[in-house]
Amino acid sequence: MSRFMHLHGSAEISHNGHLKIGGVSTIDLAKQYGTPLYVYDTALIKERARGFRKTFKELGVKAEVAYASKAFSCMAIFQLMNEEGLSLDVVSGGELYTALKADFPPERIHFNGNNKSRSELVLAVKEKIGCIVVDNFYELQLLSEITGEMKSKTKVLLRVTPGIEAHTHDYILTGQEDSKFGFDLQNGQAEKAMKLSLESEYIELLGLHCHIGSQIFETTGFILAARKMIEKAAEWNSLYGFVPEVINLGGGFGIRYTQEDDPIAPSQYVKEMILAVKEEVSRTGMSMPEIWIEPGRSLVGDAGTSLYTIGSSKEVPGVRKYLAIDGGMSDNIRPALYRAKYEALIANKADAEPEDTVSIAGKCCESGDMLIWDLPLPDAEAGDLLAVFCTGAYGYSMANNYNRLPRPPVVFVENGKSKLVIRRETYRDLIKLDESLT
Ligand SMILES: *Cc1c(COP(=O)(O)O)cnc(C)c1O
Repeated sequence: MSRFMHLHGSAEISHNGHLKIGGVSTIDLAKQYGTPLYVYDTALIKERARGFRKTFKELGVKAEVAYASKAFSCMAIFQLMNEEGLSLDVVSGGELYTALKADFPPERIHFNGNNKSRSELVLAVKEKIGCIVVDNFYELQLLSEITGEMKSKTKVLLRVTPGIEAHTHDYILTGQEDSKFGFDLQNGQAEKAMKLSLESEYIELLGLHCHIGSQIFETTGFILAARKMIEKAAEWNSLYGFVPEVINLGGGFGIRYTQEDDPIAPSQYVKEMILAVKEEVSRTGMSMPEIWIEPGRSLVGDAGTSLYTIGSSKEVPGVRKYLAIDGGMSDNIRPALYRAKYEALIANKADAEPEDTVSIAGKCCESGDMLIWDLPLPDAEAGDLLAVFCTGAYGYSMANNYNRLPRPPVVFVENGKSKLVIRRETYRDLIKLDESLT
């Protein structure tokens, strides 16, 4: 493998040059489950989950760490997060339904999103979930009506945009003023929402929420956001007696996809956030709120690896060599959507030095369906197994059936064992919603 490459978690190269994850040979996994295949290193997910919780505990701060389930949602991952004592952030009725079916405790489920429907809100209120993160005036009104009709007290946070720009890709930047999400903290919208919430009989306002972006490598944005939110809360406290019990600082902690990424430890983000909140709280004379966070990518991203079988290749003399795999933008749309970059190796020649630079093409009928450009690889041929690292977040959850490709299965690996948690879609599954004309 290239000397710049990094093996995540339990990934290792065995003496015969095969890539192992969770003590299981990826060659055996490919034989047993077929390719494409998503493999999750569950020991690494647990380590990340425990790391976040431990930091809060060590610094004596009441907290909830909610897994942002949109990063990868299925019943098994929800059950794992529940076992680890995490809460869950859902953003749709479908995610909420999956969580309830996985027996996730409703009181630890939080519901985010900028356009929750009436039926989604009714389900959330009926199931008495932990809190609803109200995003806009339309939702606040709708939720007031629903909770009134159902005579059901519901806890809410208000999502605010603190006007912080996180340094990341534009498409996933959400904390700045010009955003589709949340109440503006500066222009009086958030204040108006806070007053309306306090007046609403069945709405119990817990505090404020923000999520400033994704794949963020600096703590500055979080610190500024925390300061602004506490500062506003203190202002509202003296004006209206508002006492925030919770400040939710969202997710967005960056991870290492390639050697170009240099993330800081998750505990470091948390430590600096806590310090900022503590400082601002003591400066303004407020009482210390609980701090909630919502990591998605940083819990599951580097724990996921995609396995593909290499098929055709094409040489454009003097330009580049394409190697095609049996998956593509249907199971990992991030390169096409965000120009996301990944590292990869040949899992059955994992100890071989790169000799060639190739570009990995997906099999979808789209020239934009390229998985990796200019990847150093050893000599590869049809039948070799390509392992693409760090595909655990926004991979399966964004998978689709473009070109009617069945979605790959997902296995969890740990301690030398593998467990299928999502089976491979079949052709029959592909037509299960279709109605025949004849
Ligand atoms: C997407 C999202 C998260 C998680 O973001 P990551 O970058 O995966 O950590 C958390 N909170 C909200 C509101 C989100 O939309």
